Amino acid sequence: MNEREHNSKREARRDGHQSDPTDRTDRTENPARPTTLRPSGGYRQLRSFQVTTVIYDATVSFCNRFVDKRSRTHDQMVQAARSGRQNIAEGSRASATSSQTELRLVNVARASLDELLLDYEDFLRQRSLPQWAKDDPQAQAVREVGRRHDPTDRSDPTDQSNLVAYAPWLNDADPVVVANAIICLIHQANYLLDRQVASLERGFIREGGYSERLAAARIAERQKQHRTDRTDLAPPPCPRCGKGMVLRTTRKGGRAGSQFWGCPDYPECKGTRQVRKPDGSGGSDRSDRREP
Ligand SMILES: [Zn+2]
Repeated sequence: MNEREHNSKREARRDGHQSDPTDRTDRTENPARPTTLRPSGGYRQLRSFQVTTVIYDATVSFCNRFVDKRSRTHDQMVQAARSGRQNIAEGSRASATSSQTELRLVNVARASLDELLLDYEDFLRQRSLPQWAKDDPQAQAVREVGRRHDPTDRSDPTDQSNLVAYAPWLNDADPVVVANAIICLIHQANYLLDRQVASLERGFIREGGYSERLAAARIAERQKQHRTDRTDLAPPPCPRCGKGMVLRTTRKGGRAGSQFWGCPDYPECKGTRQVRKPDGSGGSDRSDRREP
């Protein structure tokens, strides 16, 4: 069974979450009718979250085995690895309300991983241990495990296949192998996070931030209301010339957005009437005045 079949099998076991968590291109294609203002919270399906989870677990294990528990380095490495993972989750949760916050948190995750990468490089250099070159066969083998996973893979978040796949390197008795394998994983996570940041930035430019999206939803609701009014109200005759009037919307001033009846012969005839509710109450709806 090839990887794709394997993935679709796993996908079939999961119910509901069919959308690709890293793809934000299509779900809000129509900003006028959003189901939620922004997709959020699918971080467990994010490949970057899965890879940083492996990095976090591997770093805890690495530090316990090879770094003095009382040293600051031990703490710093575990904290950096944890921060990388946590900020991806928090960014994803924040995405419902603020794409700026999401972008900031993903960037924090990226910075934490850079810090961790330096720690591993320091570990090797300070002990005169070799760091694998990019084309080292072992580095290529570790990267190959990552390549077999599509970056947009929707793998079962509960399965341990990620950790298991890297176990031969991460459980090696030689700290050189473990540190170098984790360095490969950090590069992989950084690549995924860079793509995530680029995609968030593109989405931000195309769809605007939360407040712009909210305004679009509000305008759509107002237009729906407008159409309802139109069908519910029979046009009254013009007070000047008697022609059937047309519903118009005030464009400027404090009442912009509110409706009134206008003469179809405007500007020749300047007859207007206030819009009355179908139940005969009040004049035009003034609730719009409170809106920015
Ligand atoms: Zn008229």
